[in-house]
Amino acid sequence: MVGLVLKAFSLDPDKNLNQITRAERIQLQRMVIALPVTINGHLSLDKVVTCGGVSKKEINPRTIESKLVPGLYFAGEIIDGCGRRGGFNLQQAFSTGYVAGDSASVLKS
Ligand SMILES: Cc1cc2nc3c(=O)[nH]c(=O)nc-3n(C[C@H](O)[C@H](O)[C@H](O)COP(=O)(O)OP(=O)(O)OC[C@H]3O[C@@H](n4cnc5c(N)ncnc54)[C@H](O)[C@@H]3O)c2cc1C
Repeated sequence: MVGLVLKAFSLDPDKNLNQITRAERIQLQRMVIALPVTINGHLSLDKVVTCGGVSKKEINPRTIESKLVPGLYFAGEIIDGCGRRGGFNLQQAFSTGYVAGDSASVLKS
């Protein structure tokens, strides 16, 4: 989508955000709002979430630390667990990221 919008808008994709003028921003905003989009399908689950990865059996669920390699923590899609669309995978990423970061934190020990 981003590539297509930039092309339609003739905006240089290598331009830094702080180089885009206010007038360009407003024009871009108007174009995105007015852009007609016809939804003709959706991606299959295997295109949305990476299934597979480190088995949950090898991870301590309280700390998200590897049971095989002490001091190694995982978060998100690297863990074998793929849920349906609607936030399950994002929730897994946020929750495991939080717990893994908290557990690994040197401030805690
Ligand atoms: C099109 C699409 C739609 C989706 N819709 C949904 C949905 O509706 N609901 C839902 O729950 N989930 C959805 N997901 C899945 C969800 O987005 C992911 O499960 C989640 O973002 C995984 O989080 P993560 O932190 O594990 O990985 P990521 O979000 O992929 O984060 C990994 C990060 O690591 C960075 N990185 C990679 N390699 C390196 C490196 N060598 N050095 C430094 N950084 C690196 C990447 O740039 C990236 O920022 C969707 C995914 C896609 C692609």
